[in-house]
Amino acid sequence: MVYYNDMDYYLGIDVGSTASKCVVVDASGEIVARGLHPTGAGTVGPRACVDEALAQVPDLPSADDVASSCATGYGRHLEAWTTMQMSELSCHAKGAAHLFEGVRTVIDIGGQDAKVLSLDEGGRLVDFVMNDKCAAGTGRFLDVMAGVFGCAVANLSELDREATEIAAISSTCTVFAESEVISKLAAGTPIPNIVAGVHESVVERTHGLAKRAGVTPNVAMTGGVALNDSLRERLERRIGLPVATSPLAQFAGAYGAALHACGQGGNA
Ligand code: ADP
Repeated sequence: MVYYNDMDYYLGIDVGSTASKCVVVDASGEIVARGLHPTGAGTVGPRACVDEALAQVPDLPSADDVASSCATGYGRHLEAWTTMQMSELSCHAKGAAHLFEGVRTVIDIGGQDAKVLSLDEGGRLVDFVMNDKCAAGTGRFLDVMAGVFGCAVANLSELDREATEIAAISSTCTVFAESEVISKLAAGTPIPNIVAGVHESVVERTHGLAKRAGVTPNVAMTGGVALNDSLRERLERRIGLPVATSPLAQFAGAYGAALHACGQGGNA
């Protein structure tokens, strides 16, 4: 027999271009479960990340049992079963404001776009700049390069730590940069040095976006690329400020969506 208690749960799902993320919070906004699955085509990936999260909450046999739910991300319109759908800007800002105390600048780099959000003292979104026109400076750029190196994107950070110098990548276009990386490999340039160059290329683009948005401390990084510590540290050196992150950085949008669903945390 399934045991139900009086606790209400709220679900947020962020259907990103690369990964679908789900966060379940309780009525106080505490995260109680999360799931992540490649988005893929259709609704199978998003459904899998929801199932993964629900499996961690014995009181929640199905998504129909949550008190309210909110979908965000580029694929949010496919999630018609949710109570509401909200823009990723609004959800990212809310999630980041809750993850990082006093954050005023959020640098979010996902699989398909990069954005810099400016928040006011109350954690409300006041402005943003975005690159969603070009793969350079996004997770997609790193995914392509990891493919050339024959490693997982999660290993790029470690490889960068072995670099003895930076093999600069001059092409800004992902396709040309990929050819440049292949040429450098053929010329015998050590992989870690090329990885450092690839990271510097992303940092350069990100810094450009951040300068357009204006950088007010505290600064935090979200999105899957925030898991790349070497890249984040290079960004810190370029910006000249600490850039905070969290193991939950990739879940910022889903967390914000869950908080919207439970009506928590102001108007961000
Ligand atoms: P989206 O919301 O657009 O799907 P995410 O914020 O989930 O994007 O970020 C996906 C990107 O994060 C991937 O394209 C990849 O480059 C990067 N990424 C994912 N996992 C890791 C990891 N463990 N280490 C480094 N980078 C990662």
